[in-house]
Amino acid sequence: MSAAALPLGRMRPRRAMLLAPGQIELRDFAPPRPQPGELLVQVRCALSCGTDLKTWRRGHPLWKFPMAFGHEFAGVVVETGAGVEAFRAGDEVMIAPTAPCGECFYCRRGQENLCDSAAPQLLHGAYADLILVPARIVARNTFLKPAELPFEDAALLEPIACVLHAHAAASPERSETAMIIGAGAFGMLHMIALRAAGVREIAVAGRGAARLKWAAELGADHVIDVERQDAAAAAARLNHGFGPDLVIECTGQVSGWADAFARVRRGGRVVFFGGCAPATALSVDTRRMHYDNLTLLAPFHYRPRDVRDAYQMLARRAANFAAVINARRSLADLSEVFTMLERGDALKCAVIP
Ligand SMILES: [Zn+2]
Ligand SMILES: [Zn+2]
Repeated sequence: MSAAALPLGRMRPRRAMLLAPGQIELRDFAPPRPQPGELLVQVRCALSCGTDLKTWRRGHPLWKFPMAFGHEFAGVVVETGAGVEAFRAGDEVMIAPTAPCGECFYCRRGQENLCDSAAPQLLHGAYADLILVPARIVARNTFLKPAELPFEDAALLEPIACVLHAHAAASPERSETAMIIGAGAFGMLHMIALRAAGVREIAVAGRGAARLKWAAELGADHVIDVERQDAAAAAARLNHGFGPDLVIECTGQVSGWADAFARVRRGGRVVFFGGCAPATALSVDTRRMHYDNLTLLAPFHYRPRDVRDAYQMLARRAANFAAVINARRSLADLSEVFTMLERGDALKCAVIP
């Protein structure tokens, strides 16, 4: 298919560039031609993510301005590079924006999430009309979207893969009480996934009236307002007064990590899911760690098997993950998306080119 035949409605695709903290510019760019193994994809939905918000706010240690950004997306194949057999122009696809090499020390040990070719080489540029998908991602982490699955749901593939990777590490049981610290989009995705796994009792501790209301609406059994309630006492009352079996930290703040360590029951597990700012440290009471027999887990990123699990859950509509998407804006309004997220007026926003 030639570039002139792109079903785009516009000849000059646009792409959002982050020029400096808080400064977004929509720029035209020449439609790229896919090289061998690559796909050119028309973005149908991109989702805002906490990483994007952090990068918009203060930059990111791994990336330099000016940069294209946005990495959670789903769309339609416009053109395929030589040698691509699994996909054709017109296919609706859902894509996780990284892929491991499959050959390094970590990949050979099943820890593909730690591969240097995975997270450090995140595919940016989903806030755009078009995105070029690298061959490695096409080969390992690209899926045909079921026709009846909305693009918004399909764009959740990556965050759900992160959540399922964490749950694979934590092995939540149906009989358990889980507590989530942080009522943002990831906290809610964890809650929805735990609920789908049949976990008996789920509490969400967070701040902000709107977020706590959403947590209750999305299915939390208990909502703990950490600004207005004695959160330690509320957590201690859970699980027949033993405290939560499993605590999942989703704030990415050291104070949240400390709270997670403090709230879990004796013999319980803590999942430190939210990555903190560089050069921060957690001080751990060794007595509590040892004599209370705590298990501390810090799963990061995802492996191809987690992406497959996420794909399966989305494809069979195992849970209403898309309930976390509670705002929609056009690509031209991307600046507004981030001011809205900064104010806490949305959990996750769908950006529609
Ligand atoms: Zn993300
Ligand atoms: Zn590798």
